[in-house]
Amino acid sequence: MLFRSVLKFTYHDSLDELFQRQMYESALRDDLTKTFNKKYFTDRLESEYAFAMRTKTPLSLMVFDLDHFKEVNDSYGHPAGDEVLAELAHAVSALIRAEDVFARVGGEEFGVICRAADGAQAQTVAERMRLSVASHKFTVEDKLIPITISAGTASIPHGQIADAQALIAAADQALYQAKRTGRNRVCVWQPE
Ligand code: GH3
Ligand code: MG
Ligand code: MG
Repeated sequence: MLFRSVLKFTYHDSLDELFQRQMYESALRDDLTKTFNKKYFTDRLESEYAFAMRTKTPLSLMVFDLDHFKEVNDSYGHPAGDEVLAELAHAVSALIRAEDVFARVGGEEFGVICRAADGAQAQTVAERMRLSVASHKFTVEDKLIPITISAGTASIPHGQIADAQALIAAADQALYQAKRTGRNRVCVWQPE
């Protein structure tokens, strides 16, 4: 009798723990793509920035945005656009190292915090992701939808990047450059 009640207790206890953990996880994640949300991303970037500065290890940030995504919605509908976003996030997740942080930072914009990665390593990762997306066969209702991304990267140590916000601004600037120079490409932040 005692044994049974112990078992019962343990069972309910672990269910409760699972529920608590799921609640905690869902507060950090985006519903559609299951990637981390913007709040978690910015909080983590602040602490990763501080850690990298203190330990003198490199840190890179990559941001990417889907090319001409408005046309995807216009041609195939918003629900199809949502499917593309979820599938893309799933495909890109496979290329992310366990220690990196992949998040949806805007409607069709994503960020990756590459821990302990220098500029050259971040560029390699970004290029791999760009190629992987460009060759991925996105289909919605048997229709093949061509998708590409543009990406920007920025890295520390760099004297002109004074805090986490400046790192985001630098990566955004590189992304803007990638859009401006033709899309489906990776640009690395360079000071003016
Ligand atoms: P660019 O190559 O310059 O990035 O062109 P774009 O059309 O992707 O850029 P823009 O930022 O003008 O448009 C983004 C579009 O993404 C507009 C918006 O309808 C769509 N979008 C944003 N969030 C979502 C979403 O959650 N689901 C879907 N289906 N579409 C979204
Ligand atoms: Mg876009
Ligand atoms: Mg956009």
